[in-house]
Amino acid sequence: MNVSKHEQELVGVPEPFLTESPSSWFTRVAVSQAVTPIELLRYFGLARRADPDLLLEGPVIRRISGLCGLRTKQFHLMRVMLNRLRRLDRTGTTYLLSHQGAAKYRFCPSCLAERGEKYFPIHWRFRSWRWCPNHRCLMEDVCPKCSSPVLLPGDILKAGANQAGVSSLGRCMVCSSSLAAGIWSKGGAIDSRLLTSWERTQMANGRAVLAGLFLGYVRSTDSDVRQPLVRIKRFERLGLLPHGTFKLDRQILEERRREKGIFMLTSDIKALLDSQRIGSGLAMPED
Ligand SMILES: [Zn+2]
Ligand SMILES: [Zn+2]
Repeated sequence: MNVSKHEQELVGVPEPFLTESPSSWFTRVAVSQAVTPIELLRYFGLARRADPDLLLEGPVIRRISGLCGLRTKQFHLMRVMLNRLRRLDRTGTTYLLSHQGAAKYRFCPSCLAERGEKYFPIHWRFRSWRWCPNHRCLMEDVCPKCSSPVLLPGDILKAGANQAGVSSLGRCMVCSSSLAAGIWSKGGAIDSRLLTSWERTQMANGRAVLAGLFLGYVRSTDSDVRQPLVRIKRFERLGLLPHGTFKLDRQILEERRREKGIFMLTSDIKALLDSQRIGSGLAMPED
């Protein structure tokens, strides 16, 4: 395959979803062309060792768009957000999840279950994105059946049990189980009374990071003035983002629920999670 010209060479390439991560899209494109992600990245002329989600820069997007018969503006949001991320974290090692050098993702089982075509949005790659505002649940870290992390891009055609392939990105690439299995039986929405004020602050700040990357600015809790994105770095240095020290997961919440005898009340959760100006100076800009 020749990458020196930009005329369309591939047919049947799936269009990227608006918020889809490059790794997720590379995975789906590889399936459409019946090649491995490694072969696809090589064909696109991309370095294998670089973080796959940080590869989509201007010239690369022009080349890939041409080869796939897509428009460059279909990658616009991704390009803008990732450019902003590079200003905070050039290599992505602080803000993005990884596992043994591979790009790692968290996921919301309910979001995956609701999607027809399964894909992973870019915010699921971020350490600071700890809960899903659509379903008010914690993001999942690993497959509910075999506890393997979700690593992308993956070779769907040879993934799963016995390397027989899996049907979509909604399946674990190690054991083939649905990543959306047992959504409601294992906890569901967060009860705000089970969270400490510190945890609420961290979760709100984590969401503000992604809103900031999307909008290009942040606002503090005490002012409506737009602050430059780089202000996030200060909160990172002060340990106010839910990165390495933030350990909350569904099991911990379940233990607290048993100890306190609290039942899940979604109205209470709504009151908590709809508040955009919780805490310590960094809050999600208004939509
Ligand atoms: Zn969700
Ligand atoms: Zn699994």
